[in-house]
Amino acid sequence: MLQFFGRGSAFQYEQNSAFFTDGDDIILIDCPMSSFHKLIRMNIEQLTESRNVRIIFVLVTHTHADHVSGIATLIQYAYYVWHIPIVIAAPSQEVKDDLRFLFSRLEGCDMAAFHLTTADKLKIWVKDVIPTTHVPGLNGRCFGYNLKIGDASVIYTGDTNTLEPYKQYLTDGGDIYFYTEASAAKSPVHIYLPDELDYLKSLTDKGIKVYLMHLDDEDKAYELIKDTSIMFAPLYM
Ligand SMILES: [Zn+2]
Ligand SMILES: [Zn+2]
Repeated sequence: MLQFFGRGSAFQYEQNSAFFTDGDDIILIDCPMSSFHKLIRMNIEQLTESRNVRIIFVLVTHTHADHVSGIATLIQYAYYVWHIPIVIAAPSQEVKDDLRFLFSRLEGCDMAAFHLTTADKLKIWVKDVIPTTHVPGLNGRCFGYNLKIGDASVIYTGDTNTLEPYKQYLTDGGDIYFYTEASAAKSPVHIYLPDELDYLKSLTDKGIKVYLMHLDDEDKAYELIKDTSIMFAPLYM
C-alpha cells in the first residue's frame, strides 16, 4: 500500500515519509530533506505505470522540519529540473497559510512553481483529515489522514501522542491499513509503543494491517513486536 523513503523519527538520518501512486500521479505524505535527497537520486518516472509523471502531490501532516524540510527544495527541483507540476496540500487553512509563508516568504519559491491547496480538496484520496494532538507548540495544527487508495482504507496517524482520534476508523471488516507512529522512549509527544502494544495486537487479530513508522529505536521496537503480526513500515529504498 504505502511505501516509505524513511521511517525514522526527527533525530534519525532517514526521517519519516511515505508515498503511493495513482496512475501517473505520485502522492507523497510529508517530505523531509532526507526524502528529497532520495527522490533526486532515483528516476522518479519509474514510480508510475506509464513512466510519465503527471503531477506530484505532497500531503502535509504538520510543519515540523522532519516533515516539511524538503518540500521547498522539491518545489524548486520539480519546477526547474523535472518540469513536473507540484501540488502541496495542507491539512487545514491555518497550516496552508503557514506553508505559504514558509515556501513563498522564507524560501522564496516562485508562486508559479507550485500550487497550494487544502487536503480536503483532494477528495479522490482524502476521505478525512483527522485532527490530533502532538506538541503544545503546534496545538490545533497536527493531523492524520483517512485515505482511500484503490479499495483500501489507509489510516495514517502523522505525529501524535494519542490514538484516540483514529480508533473510529479501526473497526472490523474491509481492507484497512493502519500506519501509526511509535516510540520506544516514553515522552508526552509521541505514542509509547509498550503502552499501545495490546491495542495494536487486537487490531491485527481483527485483520487490520498494522505498520509502525516514525521510529526512534528500531531494535527496541523489534523486540516488542517480533512475536506479533505488527510490521515495520516498508522502505522503498
Ligand atoms: Zn516527526
Ligand atoms: Zn512532529
